Amino acid sequence: MSEPEHLKLIIVYDANRNQYSVSAHNVQAGKAEQLVAQWNPHLVAGCSLIMLDQTKRHKTAEGRDCRTCRKIVARSANLSPKPKLERKERRNK
Ligand SMILES: [Zn+2]
Repeated sequence: MSEPEHLKLIIVYDANRNQYSVSAHNVQAGKAEQLVAQWNPHLVAGCSLIMLDQTKRHKTAEGRDCRTCRKIVARSANLSPKPKLERKERRNK
């Protein structure tokens, strides 16, 4: 018998551009809270880390490639208007 894991995914939400990117998924709930508390104060203005519940472990290795994460964000992020997934463009110009 194994304990059901309580897993979270973490997104970075940019309110200025109404975009988000998946920062991590399959993170233990306690660890996720630590990460958010640790990093939120360091983000640029308008950006915030948001934790969302996962119902099960996601199979994709990287959160940024994970479609299940995107569905969860679309369904339960409670952001209005709905944020768009950030495009993976090069930002360091
Ligand atoms: Zn995921």
